Amino acid sequence: MNKRAYNFNAGPAALPLEVLQQAQEQFVDFQGIGMSIMEISHRSKQYEQVHHETQDLLRELMNIPSNYKILFLQGGASTQFAMIPMNLVKSGQMSSYVHTGSWANKAIKEAKLFGEVQIAASSKEQEFKEIPDLSKLAINPKAAYLHVTSNETIGGIQYSEYPNTGDIPLIADMSSDILCRPVDVSRFGMIYAGAQKNLGPSGVTLVIAREDLVQQSPEHVPTMFRYDTHVENNSLYNTPPVYSIYMVNLVLKWIKGKGGLAEVQQFNTEKASLIYDAIDSSNGFYKGVAVPKDRSIMNITFTMSSEELEKQFIAESQKEGFVGLKGHRSVGGLRASTYNAVPYESCKALADFMIDFQKRNG
Ligand code: PMP
Repeated sequence: MNKRAYNFNAGPAALPLEVLQQAQEQFVDFQGIGMSIMEISHRSKQYEQVHHETQDLLRELMNIPSNYKILFLQGGASTQFAMIPMNLVKSGQMSSYVHTGSWANKAIKEAKLFGEVQIAASSKEQEFKEIPDLSKLAINPKAAYLHVTSNETIGGIQYSEYPNTGDIPLIADMSSDILCRPVDVSRFGMIYAGAQKNLGPSGVTLVIAREDLVQQSPEHVPTMFRYDTHVENNSLYNTPPVYSIYMVNLVLKWIKGKGGLAEVQQFNTEKASLIYDAIDSSNGFYKGVAVPKDRSIMNITFTMSSEELEKQFIAESQKEGFVGLKGHRSVGGLRASTYNAVPYESCKALADFMIDFQKRNG
């Protein structure tokens, strides 16, 4: 095998090499059945075992209480943007959102299709470089929930503490930071995430929901868009994305092997610090985008003094085997995504490259 790339892609993103190798070993013959897992029924005992084991692993790793359902859906986190208001906002209610950037904005746009939306807090005036102050949140009492975007993948800001919402369910889009650290699931009404950053390949969307919220969807909601359909059928109403769920299963075992989420958090913090330190000790050669208190440990965003220099940085980094460092097309600049599966060595190599690039061009 050629040397693996230093993969800083924002998503789909790096997967653990061990997981890829395990999947490769079982690719054409899953557990000695003479077929791959993609070639058997989703109602077979072999697949059902994977399905249930994946749910059990999530419950264990995230310490998910027994009154929460774990669903495997399709359509990405983007479909959840619509499914949440479609199912949860009942007549006479509205929804409430914290606006922190591009992904919050997309969720808000969909919610507006299903009723009135309150923007309970926004960091728009701060150009989404920070999480707004949520200590004095005034959530409209008619709100069915408050929605937050736990980690803004494009802006590179992340909640360090979630707001207190009292009796109003808190819903979090954790697409780009699920499993990066321990969270107290019992504080949330719902957590959801597209898989393709910290969980596995794209194709499956994880929804963790308090059961009272997803027991009964409004009558007019079509079958596949109803949470109650998927709850009643344990995500086996129709054919689930079998291979993606199988890969999530392997990733969860890999995380368990690392010791769990507290260990993963420590590891992620160390990795991100290598790169933030290179930014902070550069005397302004590199400028971090996010306000330091809200810096993401998953997506590190920074800029340089000119677009030319940034282009040169990207071109040279590519020659050295770095991938995915260009910022999102909507904001420009640079971004290093340091998800769970990005090795320490990649982050160290990037920090070293940044320091060296500055020496040569500063
Ligand atoms: N929310 C966040 C925070 C994301 O980063 C993304 C994808 N980059 C999405 C939602 C959309 O996810 P999907 O592509 O699975 O619809």
